[in-house]
Amino acid sequence: MKCDVAIVGGGPAGASAAFELAKAGLSSVIIERNLSNAKPCGGAIPLGLVEEFEIPPELVERKVTEMAVRSPKGRYVQMSMKQGYVGMVRRERFDKFLRTRAAENGVSLIESKLRRVKKLADGYKLSIDADSQGVTEIECKYLIAADGANSKVALELEFPPNELKAVAIQQRFHYSPALEKWNNLVEIWFDSEVSPDFYAWVFPKADHIAVGTGTENKNAHIKKLQNRFREKLGIEAEPYYEEAAKLPMHPRKTFVQGNAMLVGDAAGLVTPSNGEGIFFAMKSGKMAAETLIDFTRGKAKSLSLYEKNFRKNYNLIFTALSVMQAIYYRNDRMREGFVAICKDEHVQQITFDSYLYKKLVPAPLWVQMKITAKNIYHTALGR
Ligand SMILES: Cc1cc2nc3c(=O)[nH]c(=O)nc-3n(C[C@H](O)[C@H](O)[C@H](O)COP(=O)(O)OP(=O)(O)OC[C@H]3O[C@@H](n4cnc5c(N)ncnc54)[C@H](O)[C@@H]3O)c2cc1C
Repeated sequence: MKCDVAIVGGGPAGASAAFELAKAGLSSVIIERNLSNAKPCGGAIPLGLVEEFEIPPELVERKVTEMAVRSPKGRYVQMSMKQGYVGMVRRERFDKFLRTRAAENGVSLIESKLRRVKKLADGYKLSIDADSQGVTEIECKYLIAADGANSKVALELEFPPNELKAVAIQQRFHYSPALEKWNNLVEIWFDSEVSPDFYAWVFPKADHIAVGTGTENKNAHIKKLQNRFREKLGIEAEPYYEEAAKLPMHPRKTFVQGNAMLVGDAAGLVTPSNGEGIFFAMKSGKMAAETLIDFTRGKAKSLSLYEKNFRKNYNLIFTALSVMQAIYYRNDRMREGFVAICKDEHVQQITFDSYLYKKLVPAPLWVQMKITAKNIYHTALGR
């Protein structure tokens, strides 16, 4: 089988890239190993994503405006988001919608696992498990790798490694009277007992809450952290579903090589500090497709423009969140101070504004000075 563009992986990154190509009239094929996949994920998405990617309202099962952060000593700061919401989706529905929308616009879906990639003089030859039509080889001119944190394409084409992958686990619990308090509340715990270097969360969905934790610490036992978190939350019920996967929170050194582009988790595009990857997967998929469209029309000189533009738009966010994680998640004294600072209404506003639309919003000088002073007071004293 031959095609212009092959996309490996039909998650948010791959489906968004395919949709963009289809709208521009470029034919593409998605190779997805499991079309009924439910990617382990909290499914929290910002309002900006819902708007930009025209996500239908019925997929957003909660629009959460109430959030709380909790410190190691139990300081509890609850805040209301006035300028938008955190949308809650379920990945089994969300990914299916994105893939179906791409298919309805002309993208071919192949359910099969990619095994090998070979470079050709003018493109790539992909070896896949036989699909329903018995296809085992696909030749393409352009290749988009949207195959997640353990990208087989990146491995086969010897891209620089996806370093320092965190691992995250999540359990789902049906609502019961004891769990109702989280019905419309996101709760984030900063506490080394539930995560030594990241955070633990409770996310509300339509018929369940998702409870999880993550860590980059290879010596930490993720299941033990999760059990301790459940204990601290006072959840006695057993989960009806458990999921875990890697979180690649450090962009690879290169996303583009020849006619191949890495997008989403395959490129390592999950932000440090908050572990957000869906927006960056979809945005990188869209940007890679836009560059490819321009390239085929002679409007872009090289596919590396995709990487250049992505880094130009988002490097600052990745760097800022990486520094934030390194400083505030380092130990419980710093976490204590961090949660205390979250009480400040200007800190809340800056955080929400930046999250919702992925723009670092500069604060007026007097606000910066006030936040710096609080920062020094709380983190130095751990109060
Ligand atoms: C526990 C957990 C909670 C998270 N919570 C959030 C959250 O609340 N909000 C948020 O924004 N992000 C969250 N993330 C991160 C988010 O899930 C990812 O960043 C996002 O899924 C990346 O999308 P993607 O399309 O790049 O990759 P993926 O969603 O991983 O999709 C890759 C696809 O490729 C397919 N594939 C892989 N290998 C092959 C192969 N060899 N052949 C064919 N197909 C293949 C897979 O089946 C999969 O469908 C969380 C992650 C974890 C682990």
